[in-house]
Formats: sequence, structure tokens, C-alpha cells
Amino acid sequence: MIKINTSHILPDTPYLLDGTESSDILELPPNSDPPLAPVGDITYHLSAVMAGADLIVTGNASVPLATVCARCLDDIHVPISVKDLCFHFEKVRDLEVDLTDDVREELLLAVPSCFYCSPDCKGICPVCGANLNHAPCSCDRSAAFEPEEVGPSPWDQLDALDFSTKPAKASKPAKASKPAKVAKTQKAPKKPKK
Ligand SMILES: [Zn+2]
Ligand SMILES: [Zn+2]
Repeated sequence: MIKINTSHILPDTPYLLDGTESSDILELPPNSDPPLAPVGDITYHLSAVMAGADLIVTGNASVPLATVCARCLDDIHVPISVKDLCFHFEKVRDLEVDLTDDVREELLLAVPSCFYCSPDCKGICPVCGANLNHAPCSCDRSAAFEPEEVGPSPWDQLDALDFSTKPAKASKPAKASKPAKVAKTQKAPKKPKK
């Protein structure tokens, strides 16, 4: 628990609270994608001041996580850190304030949706699956990246349209297709249970 007893805070003097907290409080789901597992405690450095009866806490917190690179799938450890924590609690003079949930929430919000082992990770070869960061392979990857053949665009027909003032010959209207049968979905209202 990360707690501050506001009766310990002296006027005009920031109350410093540095420490560690078990990363169990993050309650990360066991089967997340990408996998996320804490590999160390949460570290925090907080500074608390009173503004009247209100408590203002600023500071930072971080936790190291194990996950995988989204490009090469290598196991990596990444620090999740929040540098600009700022919490405001109203009317808490001479009370104990629990910051655990607030710190937890800020750390979880700072977790990105994917991670990379390095900004210039080369990824894996789409042909042989080799990790290209470790060694280059000799596959011909040009075929793997060839874009699919694109057919004529339906918008091409717009080019053939004639917008001159000459009235266009009335063309035989296309036979309207039968409207698809609409499945009856509406059920008779259930009789209320007695
Ligand atoms: Zn990578
Ligand atoms: Zn390859």
C-alpha cells in the first residue's frame, strides 16, 4: 500500500515519500496479448504538500515488465514509467490517504499496446522465419512483399461518362433485382411470467 498520513505533512514543506511496492497490485491479466509480466517491484518517488485541507501529490513511478517485441517476437524487458504523476485529494486534513489505486491506474495507462526490442528492429523473415536482428538470411523476400494484383477500379467508369449538354439516349433500365427476402426476426412478445 502506498499511503500518506496528512498529519505528518508540515506546512510549506514537501513531504517526500520514496519506496517500492509489490507489482502484484497491477493485477495484470495472465494471458494478455502481448504477454505482460512484471519482473520487479514498482518504484515510486512522491512529493506531497497540503493546500489548505487538500492534499496534492506529484512524482513518478515505474515498473519493469517482461514482454515480446511486436516485430521479431524476442523476449524483452521494458520499463513502464510515469514521470508526471499528479493527484489531488480534497479535504483530507489529518487523514491517511491511500495512493495505491491511483499509482496503479497511471502505470496501467502508460502501458503501450505493443513493444519493440529497438526502434530499428529488423523483424523476422516472412519466408524462413529467421530473426533478422541476429543474422541476415538468404531468402528472396521480394516475392513476399509483392503487392496483390489490383484489378480495374470501379471509379474508372466515371472517366467514360459524358457530361456534355446533349441529352443522353435513354438506356434500357436494368431489370430491378428482386429484393432479398427479409427474414422475420420479430418475435411475438413473451408473456410476462407470473
Ligand atoms: Zn524486435
Ligand atoms: Zn529468410
